[in-house]
Amino acid sequence: MGNVHFIKIEIMKVCAYCGKKNPETKDHVPPKGIFAPPRPNFLVTVPCCNDCHSDTAKDDEYFRNMLAMRKDTFRHPDVQGILPKIFRSFSKPEQKKLTKSLIKSIKKTELKTSEGIYLGSVVTYDADLSRLDKVVQRIAKGLYYHENNVIFPINGKVKSYTLHDLNIFKKDKIERIIEVLSNAQVKEIGKKTLVYRMAKGEFEHLGLWLLTFFENVDFLVFMIPPTKKENTV
Ligand SMILES: [Zn+2]
Repeated sequence: MGNVHFIKIEIMKVCAYCGKKNPETKDHVPPKGIFAPPRPNFLVTVPCCNDCHSDTAKDDEYFRNMLAMRKDTFRHPDVQGILPKIFRSFSKPEQKKLTKSLIKSIKKTELKTSEGIYLGSVVTYDADLSRLDKVVQRIAKGLYYHENNVIFPINGKVKSYTLHDLNIFKKDKIERIIEVLSNAQVKEIGKKTLVYRMAKGEFEHLGLWLLTFFENVDFLVFMIPPTKKENTV
């Protein structure tokens, strides 16, 4: 399906994730499932080999479902547009186990002020954060390729954090992170489906990125180049 044409114009390309020459396919960054139909005309794709592309679909679906089930993303037009797909995805036989464990993890948490005044209740559920991180890190590598036209170094590391994790950093580091990000370049894919801020090569030689999905779900991403020792091997 148009493969010949694709290879012709992409002949100098390498897989955005592993660097393999003449990759067979392409990958949407972020996964195209998070955009409501009709999808925007301009979506980012990067060249990708079959190996790097296999097994991404299930994680992408999980990522989409977990983000779209949040109370704070529910009103986003893309989430509204993909809800029918999400309901279908939860009723698939192969998702039975996941749906069951998710339903089991749903909890009602009562919110009270420190004086004990009842504010209402929220419904929470457990998400597999390492699985979400896997998708976030692939998105970050894909965007890195898209922005720089070179792959993120194979020996480099990508670390991602949700904003809830921020308390693992010291106060002065958090202040520095906020300062760097507030001066960073901002770009948007879709209608605020994904907004990303990039501080290239700053912050103690690390690239620091902030990815915001559906205007409310933030992931802080550190792009860490290989150490010099690994670099010379
Ligand atoms: Zn690859």
